[in-house]
Amino acid sequence: MHLAAHNLFVVFVRLVPAGANSGKSSRCLRLGALVHCSIEIIIIGGGPAGLRAAEVAAAAGCTVALFDAKPSVGRKLLVAGRGGLNLTHIESRKRFVTRYTGADQPLGWWAHTLAGFDAPALREWAAGLGVATFAATSGRVYPHELKAAPLLRRWVHRLRAAGVRFHLRHSLAGLRPGTRWQVDFQTEGGIATHEADAIVLALGGGSWPDTGSTGSWVSILEKMGVRVAPLIAANCGWEISWSPALLARAEGQPLKNITATANSATATGELMVTRYGLEGGIIYQLGPVLRSMAEPALNIDFKPAHSVEQLVRKLGNCPRNFLAEARSRWRLSDAAVALLENLPGRGPYTSALSLAAAVKTFPLKLSRPRPLNEAISSAGGVCWSEVNDELMLHRWPGVFVAGEMIDWDAPTGGYLMQGCFATGNRAARGALAWGGIAGGSAKIDQPA
Ligand SMILES: Cc1cc2nc3c(=O)[nH]c(=O)nc-3n(C[C@H](O)[C@H](O)[C@H](O)COP(=O)(O)OP(=O)(O)OC[C@H]3O[C@@H](n4cnc5c(N)ncnc54)[C@H](O)[C@@H]3O)c2cc1C
Repeated sequence: MHLAAHNLFVVFVRLVPAGANSGKSSRCLRLGALVHCSIEIIIIGGGPAGLRAAEVAAAAGCTVALFDAKPSVGRKLLVAGRGGLNLTHIESRKRFVTRYTGADQPLGWWAHTLAGFDAPALREWAAGLGVATFAATSGRVYPHELKAAPLLRRWVHRLRAAGVRFHLRHSLAGLRPGTRWQVDFQTEGGIATHEADAIVLALGGGSWPDTGSTGSWVSILEKMGVRVAPLIAANCGWEISWSPALLARAEGQPLKNITATANSATATGELMVTRYGLEGGIIYQLGPVLRSMAEPALNIDFKPAHSVEQLVRKLGNCPRNFLAEARSRWRLSDAAVALLENLPGRGPYTSALSLAAAVKTFPLKLSRPRPLNEAISSAGGVCWSEVNDELMLHRWPGVFVAGEMIDWDAPTGGYLMQGCFATGNRAARGALAWGGIAGGSAKIDQPA
């Protein structure tokens, strides 16, 4: 008893004033397994980035309040669950880091950030919630149940148990610096002001606004002098004005096991012919290159495993009806045949060689990306020049950003979710370090 009181005194006298940025002094009081820290952190945005940030801050013993504009958190996570919830990918970290693009990203930043919370850590974290994962043959990692709801439900439950207070239907209206940060929220009852020592903004991008990611934060940060690259559609379909004849034959049909090239970038996989153009992994992957092209276009190879010569040989001594023969001998899909036959200026194919050449190099002009609200994610966001390595805004010390609201982009494949978890992790640790808490502790990265 006497010893405990003595320890209490020692810890209290080491507390430093709120707002100071010592990064070294302890602001935490440890009583047995319990840790309580004297700083309060407000997290705004309850997607994967914000929830992860809340988890890290709560694990360090801080007082954590999480605010979200919607009546419940994780709505986009639930939408992602409809596709099975691709959480991450098993490829090597070296390859993984190359997936993240965006203007002026600091060199090596993703390697460092993923080292703090990488794909194995994310799988272990999910397992800690009782959600076992598996890697598909593509390398994509999913929960066994292929659902997001059980994971989200258990996660929120665990956060509440860890002391995180949830304030729903609170929409960020403004931020004001002072001795502590003052945060204004629009609520049903008017403006409510809360204060904290550090703030993590995890407000998402601009796609699927019904889930809460409306991009309404952009004007708030711009008024504060923070540069934000416009939010634009990423991982989205592209438009092509197909003829009615083409649509009658190919709408809803897949083009499988193909490669497509845009400028010098090549992607392999699948495309889907839709009413308005094309969707699918290939076009999502090539999105950043397509967006940079004055006249966006793809060059499709319908038979990447065969050379022109091999295809001609496979067709044998077919004298005419080359396309009809090639359909079975080359195993061309219905959609590929429809494209080869129905686009203006293509065919008729008067030799096996001309058909093989068209199958191997099939140019397609694209009009424009689909609108932002339909996209899987958005590119653009808070510019890298505005944040330090810990994702704190240079102009506004104590305010951190995380998740899709930062100007990075990644293709589908689990890289988006992993990026949101890893940036939420890093921003929260930055907030702890800024608040003078030894938040760099590796313990925080372990699954709770
Ligand atoms: C159809 C679809 C399928 C997807 N599938 C996958 C997938 O399988 N794998 C993958 O890796 N990624 C997938 N994604 C992308 C992934 O869901 C997002 O990248 C991720 O959810 C972004 O996380 P975040 O925490 O940055 O933001 P969000 O999840 O968008 O969360 C932002 C939160 O901030 C809140 N908010 C916004 N503005 C305010 C405000 N002013 N005040 C208060 N709160 C506010 C919102 O209500 C929301 O809860 C998919 C996306 C879509 C649309």
